[in-house]
Amino acid sequence: MRGTGKGRIFIVGTGPGSIGHITPYAMKALRESDVIAGYGTYLDLIRELIKDKEVVSTGMTRETERCRRAVELAATGRTVSVVSGGDPGIYAMAGLVLEIVKKQSEDSRTDIHIEVVPGISALNACASRLGAPLMHDFASISLSDRLTPWELIEKRLDAAAAADFAIVLYNPKSRGRTRQINRAVEIISRHRLPETPVGIVKGAMRENEKIIITDLGNMLEHDIDMQTTVIIGNSNTFSWNSLMITPRGYESKYSI
Ligand code: SAH
Repeated sequence: MRGTGKGRIFIVGTGPGSIGHITPYAMKALRESDVIAGYGTYLDLIRELIKDKEVVSTGMTRETERCRRAVELAATGRTVSVVSGGDPGIYAMAGLVLEIVKKQSEDSRTDIHIEVVPGISALNACASRLGAPLMHDFASISLSDRLTPWELIEKRLDAAAAADFAIVLYNPKSRGRTRQINRAVEIISRHRLPETPVGIVKGAMRENEKIIITDLGNMLEHDIDMQTTVIIGNSNTFSWNSLMITPRGYESKYSI
């Protein structure tokens, strides 16, 4: 989106955790920025890259305030990066920033250049650690009901499981939100066997990374938290050698 003013906003994804998994283009956007806006934990992961920048940081539940501030600063002609972990367009800040800019441009208060800079999402990072669990169609579902009615989440879980999608669960469980993951397993189990392979990846590409391969019947015995992504296989997924593989279909068509 091109504005004629000189203010710029980059909505930047910084990947799953390590500096090595940030794209060179995202690095460039951060380098060119005067101001970095983001949530504390994500900023900590990229501290080295932003040490000489002005930082706008607020807690997780004040995203709206942080994004509005970023848009205001860009409107004064500065270059601002709004930083999200993973990809900024997947359960992150791109939508909110664009909604704020849309609202403000309707009131003709802003004229800024905006660019969404992609990053490696948790589903890419976690799938790679598990092998090849997302080789066929999959559905991604966030279990957070902070902004989405729980009934709708249940409906999507049921539909995705019935349609035999491999399923990626973001935001599976937090300290204050523990029952959703149990309910998700119950719903998915209506359509899938207890032996269905499940990968649980905590802190992918971070120092505390932990990878577990288990199955639907046993997954709740493992540690799952807000730094974890869970990937549930489809009816063809198998595990081998601490890896999880969802066939693409080559084997039934060609000899491999
Ligand atoms: N924009 C982010 C997602 C933010 S929602 C992205 O594209 O990845 C936050 C959820 O993402 C977490 O609760 C967790 O489920 C997942 N997540 C983010 N980083 C992760 C990582 N390094 N390892 C495992 N899961 C991660």
